[in-house]
Amino acid sequence: MRVYRCVLQIRSPTVISNERGARGFYTATEALPGYTVGGAVNRALFGSVSPDRMLVSSPAYPVLNGHKTLPAHTFYYKCKICEGLVVSTLREANLLELMRHGWEVVKERLIALRDEQSHPLKSLHPRPVTPQGGRAARVAVQSIVSIGMNRHAAASQIGLLYEYTAIEPGQEYWFTLASSGGSEIPDEFDVKIGRGASRGYGRAVVRVEERFTDPPLDQSVGDEAAFYAVSPIPLRFIAGQINLAECSSRYGLKGVDGVLEPIYTGGRPAAFGRAVRKMVAGWPHGASVSRERIDCLSAGSIVAYRWRQRPDDQARALAALRYFGAPVRLDSGYVDGFCMLYPFSREPLEEVV
Ligand SMILES: [Zn+2]
Repeated sequence: MRVYRCVLQIRSPTVISNERGARGFYTATEALPGYTVGGAVNRALFGSVSPDRMLVSSPAYPVLNGHKTLPAHTFYYKCKICEGLVVSTLREANLLELMRHGWEVVKERLIALRDEQSHPLKSLHPRPVTPQGGRAARVAVQSIVSIGMNRHAAASQIGLLYEYTAIEPGQEYWFTLASSGGSEIPDEFDVKIGRGASRGYGRAVVRVEERFTDPPLDQSVGDEAAFYAVSPIPLRFIAGQINLAECSSRYGLKGVDGVLEPIYTGGRPAAFGRAVRKMVAGWPHGASVSRERIDCLSAGSIVAYRWRQRPDDQARALAALRYFGAPVRLDSGYVDGFCMLYPFSREPLEEVV
């Protein structure tokens, strides 16, 4: 298993479309989806996505004044009055222990409305924040208005005016790439990401900052564990199981197995996060792009699982879950870069690697 920690720097205005709206495409600016970054990297290095050379990408999160940001979890708050004060109720709590006492206790201990001075608190979930000090990332964007062209008539189509939000050049994002092994990747390479590459949009450069072989991830997880979601988690993995043997077969990871199932409290799976109902996955399908929706909880969510079937090599199984996630099967194929989970003990934003 090879893992690369990378930084992507935007070099020309970049439009990452997430979803089509009335006047254009809403742009993902605070996080670039893992399948979008992964697609761009695999095309740049290998010309296409081939299963035996595939690199799986995490979502890419902004770098703020040289600091990497991560999506705030559900119990990460900022005071509306005290400048820079952040409160994480997880730091003082043991989530698994609280769950044994039921939902009322979980709510009472983890949901905070006021700080010690009785000031109102606001949850930062799921905005990317710096783990030290909790500053929220702000990404510089510009608006681009373009006229819809009718390809066949080579003329502009009346009334078709699209407005895009584009990420400005200079913005940096960090992310991880993972592969089962094999060929190395260069220290630096150019990618084209998002829409309008033929018109000069979406030029970016990727720098590899660190390389790891078989990153250890043990965390002395017992039968049950609380996880922080580094990527969105499809609801199917919260309503049902995560079978790590699917990672093994999709990504060619030998010795990765085990089955996780969600822990239930009072009839509900223990999952805390914002529902992202219209996550769109797109990939080339012949000449056009197929799109499907995946209902998810957003990155930064907190979920609790237990081993239904313990893995032979737990450290390896947990590393696969963190850096590859679980492949999502759709009608038209697989999509990668989802369900990347990290087991934490107290404060995930300070622990996650
Ligand atoms: Zn305060």
